[in-house]
Amino acid sequence: MFTPTPVEKQYEQAAPDDLRILVVGAGIAGITVAQLLRNDGRHPVLIERADDGSHPGYMLALMPMAEPALDDLGLRDRYRAASVQFEHYGMRSHTGRLMRVDPIGQILSRNGDYRGISRGALIDVLTGDGCTVSFGSTVTALTETPEAVRVCVSEAGVAHELEFDLVIVADGIHSDTRELVLGGAPVEVVDTEWGGWVAWAPADDKLDTGEELWGAGNFVGLYPVAGGIGVFLGGPRSDTAAGAPAFAERFRKALKVVDPRIDRALDAVATDPDPYYWALTDCRAPQWTTGRTVLLGDAAAGFLPTAGIGAGMAMESAWILAGVLRHADRRVLARLLGAYERAQRPRVQTAQDNSRQLANLMFHRSRTLAVLREVAMRFVSVETAIGPIRRLLREQLDPDAIAKSLVAGAVTE
Ligand SMILES: Cc1cc2nc3c(=O)[nH]c(=O)nc-3n(C[C@H](O)[C@H](O)[C@H](O)COP(=O)(O)OP(=O)(O)OC[C@H]3O[C@@H](n4cnc5c(N)ncnc54)[C@H](O)[C@@H]3O)c2cc1C
Repeated sequence: MFTPTPVEKQYEQAAPDDLRILVVGAGIAGITVAQLLRNDGRHPVLIERADDGSHPGYMLALMPMAEPALDDLGLRDRYRAASVQFEHYGMRSHTGRLMRVDPIGQILSRNGDYRGISRGALIDVLTGDGCTVSFGSTVTALTETPEAVRVCVSEAGVAHELEFDLVIVADGIHSDTRELVLGGAPVEVVDTEWGGWVAWAPADDKLDTGEELWGAGNFVGLYPVAGGIGVFLGGPRSDTAAGAPAFAERFRKALKVVDPRIDRALDAVATDPDPYYWALTDCRAPQWTTGRTVLLGDAAAGFLPTAGIGAGMAMESAWILAGVLRHADRRVLARLLGAYERAQRPRVQTAQDNSRQLANLMFHRSRTLAVLREVAMRFVSVETAIGPIRRLLREQLDPDAIAKSLVAGAVTE
């Protein structure tokens, strides 16, 4: 539950803190880090551009790397109650035939749960019994000096000149604040030139099973959450320009087997009066930290949806950053941020590389390639396809260890 609060009131509460922290963006990463910092006794100011907490909902398949943050916030039970366990993953051929069903829940079970949850439900879980936030607020100017970061926050058109020790930039893949921090440094973007719509199909009796159909010039994915099934239907942007109903109809006609579940998913997209359109691009910032700022979540590395891991990595990064900051004071802040980036950036980029590789495999027009891919997929297991992600899950970082080695070093200098 969000607790809307004016920026000035939040700033007053932050003033006595040893580190005055601003978090920009109340999405998955921003809420997670703000709530973890509050759990540790600090009072970060959390601002959000949207005018309220309602967001066009979409589905998230959340990997186990989200769990340490949920555990530290004491929210694991609420999370389980608001989500469904993702046990099976079905793959269909480009003609619609079911090729295989893999026990994805069991494959990941050594590392934790793999669960489906809507974005809105996850935000409800993360905001818990209260999450102070200022809506309708953005950063319009930012100047970093060795002593502080001076920030101009515009709240409903009113400008506030404020000073912080640290600014956490978590305003998503199309971050504006990132530009203020990085100056002109270019952000690397992979554009698949595909895009598609997100809509909700009714719940059925297979809410433990997600499925995907990788077609020739089209793609549909079904991702169950509590009470419904999130659907993504996409293709090359030049084709989706025809509009959702026409694209869905063309897709249906191209199938030899139209399973009732796929049929309902296509209907859901075609009949949604205003389905959310998602252009499939990602982004990778060249650098995450300066002495007093840090990019977090999609603002640092925004993901293609292909590995279903952006939110998981955003929550993991938020947890590691909050853990490292537990050891921070003004003296060691810049060095701790550097250590955080050195430890976490390679992990996030490995996950992002995995998403990019899957996109290379998935997004094609050619029927011949689709057939060859289906032959290859008889021999490549899901375990192999997500091998790099499973390695990340096995080799979790310890934020205390990252911080302690550095802080100990600083003290003996
Ligand atoms: C359709 C869809 C399906 C997805 N499916 C999955 C999935 O299955 N599994 C998975 O792990 N990930 C998935 N993702 C990715 C996941 O949603 C993101 O990786 C995750 O939300 C990143 O969190 P974030 O906090 O960095 O960004 P966001 O959650 O996007 O939050 C950014 C916040 O910043 C706010 N904001 C923007 N600009 C400003 C500004 N200038 N000032 C203040 N606030 C601002 C925004 O309003 C928003 O609230 C999906 C994404 C989409 C779009």
